[in-house]
Amino acid sequence: MDRKGARDTKPRRDRKRPAKFKGTNRHCIETDISFASTSAAKIGRKSPEFEVKIDQTFSYVLIEFALVFGALQQLLKCKNCDSDVRFYKKSIRGLGFKICVDCLCSDPAEINSCPLINNAYEINRRFCFVMRILGIGIHGIRNFVALMDLSSTFNSTTYYGIMKMLHIVVKSVYTAVIQKAGSEEKKKNLEAENRADILTVSGDGSWSKRGFTSRMGIVSVIGKYTNKVMDVAVRSSFCKACSLWKGRENTVEYDAWYATHEPECNVNHEGSAGKMEVDGMLEIFQRSEEIHNAKYGFYIGDGDTKTFKMLLEAKPYGDKLTIKKKECTGANTQNNNESFNHCVWQLAPKHIFCGKQTVEITTYCAACTFNEGFDPLLKIMETMGCTIGPIAADFAAKYKAERIKTADRRSSLDSKEARTARRTEISAENEEFEEAEGVLYGPGIAD
Ligand SMILES: [Zn+2]
Ligand SMILES: [Zn+2]
Repeated sequence: MDRKGARDTKPRRDRKRPAKFKGTNRHCIETDISFASTSAAKIGRKSPEFEVKIDQTFSYVLIEFALVFGALQQLLKCKNCDSDVRFYKKSIRGLGFKICVDCLCSDPAEINSCPLINNAYEINRRFCFVMRILGIGIHGIRNFVALMDLSSTFNSTTYYGIMKMLHIVVKSVYTAVIQKAGSEEKKKNLEAENRADILTVSGDGSWSKRGFTSRMGIVSVIGKYTNKVMDVAVRSSFCKACSLWKGRENTVEYDAWYATHEPECNVNHEGSAGKMEVDGMLEIFQRSEEIHNAKYGFYIGDGDTKTFKMLLEAKPYGDKLTIKKKECTGANTQNNNESFNHCVWQLAPKHIFCGKQTVEITTYCAACTFNEGFDPLLKIMETMGCTIGPIAADFAAKYKAERIKTADRRSSLDSKEARTARRTEISAENEEFEEAEGVLYGPGIAD
């Protein structure tokens, strides 16, 4: 219950005090995205390695309220009036609340259960973000907080407000991540005695097949030398809201509704699922100069030549450059794209249809982790205004060290003599990948 604190365990005499209006409607707090947008705009330039500030004293705990605070009530007296104290919760919103310390003094002290970000409890955004990257949405959150006896509700306005802000922040961190991949790829391309701005990428598409047939697709390109995601396009041909209005097009009501719906409509694709890969890939090629200041001159793709044929016809670089195809052999593989696709769908919710915004958040976070480990995820949290403590920071650092070790082991296998040895290793690669990626991409994490 989030309404006017009706369920707060507030003592009688306290209720007479008129509630002070704090200037912000609690349900509007999470929809104020100006803060996140301002900090999001600075990311790439200011922190190319996604460093975050770490507060060494910061950590969360789960405690049983009555047990701990009941015991404290037995131990403590107010320093001011020397009377017994009583602890209770108030202003509960999601997982955040205030601890009231009540005594004979006229104004009971109030302690926030966590830091506030513009009047919003930080724990709620952090919790929604972490649940989201584990593949859990609002329904899962409600199950979790209720079954854990943590909170009787999680307001959906709060949740969707957080998702809206998260989308902005994730996109800006993701953009910095792929731009970093672009600069590294150009550098390595040059070292391999190619022109720095004509890159070789592997491309692939993948479709969500849950509940609805292939109505959501992701298309990705990965750099040949860095093995990092350089760009991703999310395509969707289905919108739940639009489907509810189907058959009522061309009415006054429809037009009025569509005017407000259009900016948030999920559909950015018309035509078959097969055409999605083609369109998505073209979108990616067309913006390579804008994002990376480079052209994708060589395309590594498998048997499906439709995508490549279309790229040739569409001439995304005009007559200046004709894209060439490289067959999937030896060092040219789509394995990275397949691993990446696998990551994305692993994290997208399985049973409920998820909208484009959710798939984008999931896809961008997967790309961030695929390229740079957990550092960008900490950066996302920091940009949302959350504090990063040593537990999260150490976890990200340990993960990074593990990845470097794996990468070193692989590159030592890149010599000609070791090719055969490597080939036998390829079948085990997926398994190894999951092992290296750790818990976030572990099988079944979103089940
Ligand atoms: Zn007192
Ligand atoms: Zn729509």
